[in-house]
Amino acid sequence: MIPFLDLKAQYESIQHEVLSAVSATLASTQFVLGKEVATFEEEFAAYSGGKFGVGVNSGTSALHLALLAAGVKPGDEVITVSCTFVATVAAIDYAGARPVFVDVDPRTHNMDPRWVEAAITERTKVIMPVHLHGQPADLDPILDIARRHRLLVIEDAAQAHAAEYKGRRVGSIGDLGCFSFYPGKNLGAYGEGGMVVTNNPDFARTIRMLRDWGQERKYHHTLKGFNYRMEGVQGAILRVKLRYLDAWTAARRQHAALYNELLADTDVQKPVEMPYAKHVYHVYAIRTPKRDHVQASLEGQGIQTGIHYPIPVHLQKAYAEFGCGAGELPVTEQAANEMLSLPMFAELQAAQIEAVCSAVRGAL
Ligand SMILES: *Cc1c(COP(=O)(O)O)cnc(C)c1O
Repeated sequence: MIPFLDLKAQYESIQHEVLSAVSATLASTQFVLGKEVATFEEEFAAYSGGKFGVGVNSGTSALHLALLAAGVKPGDEVITVSCTFVATVAAIDYAGARPVFVDVDPRTHNMDPRWVEAAITERTKVIMPVHLHGQPADLDPILDIARRHRLLVIEDAAQAHAAEYKGRRVGSIGDLGCFSFYPGKNLGAYGEGGMVVTNNPDFARTIRMLRDWGQERKYHHTLKGFNYRMEGVQGAILRVKLRYLDAWTAARRQHAALYNELLADTDVQKPVEMPYAKHVYHVYAIRTPKRDHVQASLEGQGIQTGIHYPIPVHLQKAYAEFGCGAGELPVTEQAANEMLSLPMFAELQAAQIEAVCSAVRGAL
């Protein structure tokens, strides 16, 4: 059996360090926030090229608080994509705002900057591109539009730790950047976690208050806040794991290169790494009109695959109220029918990639 994702091998490789970090944190009784979280915030913000990091309890919470800090209010509009995990849109809805979807570039499946300007209205506050599968969206044209219309840019970098746009790490290029440390992400906690990265001290201060009941100091609730704090042990674990992120990212990129090579003479569309991008392959997704057949064939040979994502968010029942119907985002809709994610994690073996590729070729 070749798993789509295996978290066990990685855990075993760092088990001793993780357990001693957890044990020390528990002994300190700093179960929520505390020194390990504060240090991880500094380390991860610096890693991502930002001045401030605010640790929270999920990537979704990071997006929600980034939107609130950006001043998004009920009735406002946020321009984003439908070709994403549902959390991007859920967070916009939590803020009371309306997601306005634009279609994606068929090569990258990221926000196509050509459609953004036409989607702006007097209610637009924020543009929220997603760095899908670990490849940065084309930020420069998006930032240029945002500056001209006095909008803020929030990067959904939940899949893109360590990814680079024109040589700079994502998350600190827009006004705010949001990361997830869900266990399966490229930098994953052993539980839930997330972070907002920003260079703006006012945003950082507001988000720090919002994640902890809106308190300026204990029992002084200046803002209507939330219980979105990061746990101490997650901070400690993530500090250990951050030291390995470069090596794990290099391994993912090497696996992607091998996949590309072994699938070179097939007619599947392989991930395109844009000239401006360092792709970190959170997901390695191929595209083929024979997707369902290929997936079933691999399944029959014990090879697990995934689909990210089979139904675009605008076509989900829960978000039908936003009025974007079938046929309105043709590139997104076609991609949802054709994309297939192959096994990808740092510990994947070359022999496993070879087996996956020969199964794909056989199925075609
Ligand atoms: C995982 C993910 C999120 C949400 O992160 P959680 O930590 O699971 O809340 C948001 N956006 C994208 C694109 C994601 O992949």
